[in-house]
Amino acid sequence: MKNNKNGLFRSSLFYIVVFVLAMGVILFATGGGTGGNSSQVQKIQSSQFTNDLKKNKVKNFAIESVDGVYKVSGEYRTPQKVSQTNDLAFTVSTKGISKPAKSETKTTKFTTNVVKTDSSIKEINDLAKAKDVKMNAKPTQSNGFWLNLIVSVLPLIIFIYLFYMMMKQAGGGSGGPGGVMKVGKSQAKPVKSKVRFKDVAGEDEEKQELVEVVEFLKDPKKFTSLGAQIPKGVLLEGPPGTGKTLLAKAVAGEAEVPFFSLSGSDFVEMFVGVGASRVRDLFAQAKKTAPAIIFIDEIDAVGRRRGGGTGGGHDEREQTLNQLLVEMDGFTGNSGVIVIAATNRADVLDPALTRPGRFDRKILVGQPDVRGREAILKVHSSDKTLAEDVDLKKIAKETPGFVGADLANLLNEAALLAARRNGKSINAADIDEAEDRVIAGPAKRNRIISEKERNIVANHEAGHTIVGLVLNDARVVHKVTIVPRGRAGGYAIVLPKEDQQLMTKKDAIEQIAGMMGGRSAEEIVFDSESSGASNDFQQATQIARAMVTQYGMSDKLGTVALEDPNGDPYAQPRYSADTAATIDAEVKRITNEGHQKAREIIENHREQHKLIADALLKYETLDEKQILSLYKDGKMPAEVENETETFTEAEKAEATKEKHQEVEDHHDNDDSTDKDN
Ligand code: ADP
Ligand code: MG
Ligand code: ZN
Repeated sequence: MKNNKNGLFRSSLFYIVVFVLAMGVILFATGGGTGGNSSQVQKIQSSQFTNDLKKNKVKNFAIESVDGVYKVSGEYRTPQKVSQTNDLAFTVSTKGISKPAKSETKTTKFTTNVVKTDSSIKEINDLAKAKDVKMNAKPTQSNGFWLNLIVSVLPLIIFIYLFYMMMKQAGGGSGGPGGVMKVGKSQAKPVKSKVRFKDVAGEDEEKQELVEVVEFLKDPKKFTSLGAQIPKGVLLEGPPGTGKTLLAKAVAGEAEVPFFSLSGSDFVEMFVGVGASRVRDLFAQAKKTAPAIIFIDEIDAVGRRRGGGTGGGHDEREQTLNQLLVEMDGFTGNSGVIVIAATNRADVLDPALTRPGRFDRKILVGQPDVRGREAILKVHSSDKTLAEDVDLKKIAKETPGFVGADLANLLNEAALLAARRNGKSINAADIDEAEDRVIAGPAKRNRIISEKERNIVANHEAGHTIVGLVLNDARVVHKVTIVPRGRAGGYAIVLPKEDQQLMTKKDAIEQIAGMMGGRSAEEIVFDSESSGASNDFQQATQIARAMVTQYGMSDKLGTVALEDPNGDPYAQPRYSADTAATIDAEVKRITNEGHQKAREIIENHREQHKLIADALLKYETLDEKQILSLYKDGKMPAEVENETETFTEAEKAEATKEKHQEVEDHHDNDDSTDKDN
């Protein structure tokens, strides 16, 4: 903030200086140019001027060329009466228009305009010589000169100003006291972080690792006197939104030391060499204020592997990276500066960065488990009013795959929904709606859908549901709805039963069959296909391809890693065209088998399928309890047999599943509704 003010002050000062200068120039031009003391100047006719010359009344005069005429100004030897016969408008003094009164005024000064011809100038010349009048010939003068000066200088001033603003902009905007002279300076100013470890929920192991860093920064002598080597660099690695930035801020907050925060992209500038000099400046500043923390967020922007074969255009980034490496080698861990970096792409980082002596301590910040999610929900709900019926533990269970940022967003959405209905607190229904929103976008209850299309969607979703119910080893159908949301016409949420890190071949095959359930149902019930299944196919194909190329789950290709999920998707494949054909064939076989399996299951459960489809048409949304009741008993659970709307609000069955969930969507192939994987 302080820096911003500083910048504002600078720019307004600059403005003022320019303004004063311009005013001065203009004043001087108009006032000073005519050489004006207060005496009157008489404007006379050119004929009178030549007459006066002949009569030797003129003492001296100057002549200049202005706008196609010669402008003559001069002095008489003796004061002349201002001739009343002349047009009054011409009697202008520098103090204003003189009174057109009869009162006689006298002046020695006069001006006149002479037509610009050779003969006229020759006549004046000759007369002046004959009478020995002092004559001054100026090329251009007076107003013309000053006007010209303004015309030529003003654009320059404006240009300089614009350039200055541009440089300021380039200098990192809000980052600090940018300016023409500051381009190569790091834009980092130390900030005081208010975040504490308690604000970072879960992640106890990660925090434990960082406690040591904090202790060192607080009391370096304790460590250095023992000869302990403190890590120079800590690399926080993990998916986006897991709280890496938050953790780094918490370290700074706990340690109460200056915290220099920069994003990797700040180093990558439009001017070559700026990045490197920024790094130099950043480290110099940090050392001055040591103990201090330098935090480089998204370090992959500069830290990508060098010489990636992409050729050219990367010189700037490489220079910056090299400078960073040099700086990190240039200080010992005991100088009191610790560099923390964060990235979600550690695999693309240059190996030199992660070598011992640089970012030698790596902390993985992963997706939170169910307990972590509950803790995060607790932190973010502390400043919100929750109704009695909100159970954070239950929400945590329903949100496998959600990271800290998602959970913060979920609670915020719920708060907005509660405010929209003028509620006093956030209730379970708000949370439920918010969950669906975060997963699939806002509900579109007003979207007009034809009866026929609704019927197709209901049967399609019932198909997913039935297959999910039958193949229930690892996964549970959590919810199914035909309320359109985002670009999906409806969806079934299928969650894994347990927090699982691994996927078995059986899981994968079952998941694919589940994805195929929608289309299979359409085929069986309507004997037709709709475009609504395209997203299902995308997800199924993705899993099948991963099975073949990453998990070694295809007998034909064996246990070979053919593709790297984190690799460059545009890189040349490392396998032959033959292998590529085999991969395609295997993917096709796996998805076809899934399709077959789904068809079989639906054929064998036509009755239950119809029940669920009809219930969907009637109630629109079914939860786990209702789905199971329909499947097992052929009817809806007793207590909720009455109201359509309350179903979505009805208590959900205790969900006992974690991790991945799937949104199988409809009517459109929009990836944004896909929370899977
Ligand atoms: P990252 O840097 O890993 O992408 P951030 O640190 O920017 O993620 O986190 C984004 C937001 O998500 C934070 O501002 C915070 O509100 C929330 N968040 C993430 N992880 C946690 C956590 N463990 N505890 C509390 N809030 C969290
Ligand atoms: Mg971040
Ligand atoms: Zn589907």
